[in-house]
Amino acid sequence: MLFLEPFGATDAGKVRANNEDALLVGEGRDETLFVVADGIGGFEAGEVASRIAIDVLRNLEPGDSFEAAIREANRRILAVGRGDERLSGMGTTVVAVRFGGTREEPVVEIAHVGDSRAYLLRGGELQPVTEDHSLVAELVRSGDLTRAQAAEHPQKNLITRALGADEEVEVDTAVLPVEAGDRLLLCSDGLTDMVAEARIAEILADSPDDPEGPARALVSAALDAGGSDNVTVIVVDVKEEPPRAERSGDTHEMPAVARSGDRSQTTDRPPPQRPRSAEPRGRDRAPGRPKAARRKRKRVGLRRFVRGLAAVLIVVIALTPAYLWGSSRYFLGLEDGEVVAYRGLPYAPLGVELNTEWRRTGVEVSDVKTPYRDPIENHTLYTREELDPVLQDLGK
Ligand code: MN
Repeated sequence: MLFLEPFGATDAGKVRANNEDALLVGEGRDETLFVVADGIGGFEAGEVASRIAIDVLRNLEPGDSFEAAIREANRRILAVGRGDERLSGMGTTVVAVRFGGTREEPVVEIAHVGDSRAYLLRGGELQPVTEDHSLVAELVRSGDLTRAQAAEHPQKNLITRALGADEEVEVDTAVLPVEAGDRLLLCSDGLTDMVAEARIAEILADSPDDPEGPARALVSAALDAGGSDNVTVIVVDVKEEPPRAERSGDTHEMPAVARSGDRSQTTDRPPPQRPRSAEPRGRDRAPGRPKAARRKRKRVGLRRFVRGLAAVLIVVIALTPAYLWGSSRYFLGLEDGEVVAYRGLPYAPLGVELNTEWRRTGVEVSDVKTPYRDPIENHTLYTREELDPVLQDLGK
């Protein structure tokens, strides 16, 4: 019989005032469900978006469609954004896993949108089980960038899919067989941008019996590396429960993925601001106490979960960026010697044009002030607020 031992931790990091990441560590109706969401949008909008995603998934019943729940979260984020100007344009990534299958063939089901990731550590090897929906990931897939270049790319945080971006959201799902000894990692880009995969693998392989140590160590590693973004980590261990001789009457045909015991954990950093009450309200979440890091074990019957999915690996990778998060970005380029402002992104992955001419500046390339030459050359991305003063100051 398998059981799960999870530990989750989040930290606002060293630069951001708010923590726009949110997490669910088995507190939902489906206790085998674990979720990380990384919100996007200013004025706390990102926090609202990531929490809506978590709240919708919290109510996911075992056996309900993962995709349907994520689509529902998408609709709610859009609806809330429409009702409040300050929240318009908010979005969130989501990566979620839940466990199930049968005794013979236990599985983990994975769903994700955006660049929050899931990894599987098995036999000391770290395998990515999600592919980012991001600009640089598309460029790596199309062969235009190497993975190393992508990690250093200035636009590495531009994601091509998010909840809250469009009426329809495409969700990637996969089902993988799991076995005792497996360790799953869910994380936001605040980890993967700061800590190399090789180091993540080392930390995860370090204490195989306890998810707490590695989860904390990963967050610390991201903070030590600069902590420039919110960082969230969930480590879930799949373990074999020793047979219970005392339960002689127990004739369960089905295996159980179980979580049992209950232990609160805190870290020594102050809690991030929580303007809304959408955070998990576990016993260990009293207001004012240091924040989110939890470990629980509890029994959950697998009977309730989807059957017949075991050993089937379904990976749906949609290659068309239905929406590019950068569509409200601008960059400068040249056309016939004149500086032109474009809206969108200076790339055309998969042959899709991602930008349109937005404004001709009337400034000749020879008149461009020195500080703006590089940004024009490199197609530096601007928000509208950043671009306006540049356009004012561009020419000699
Ligand atoms: Mn992030």
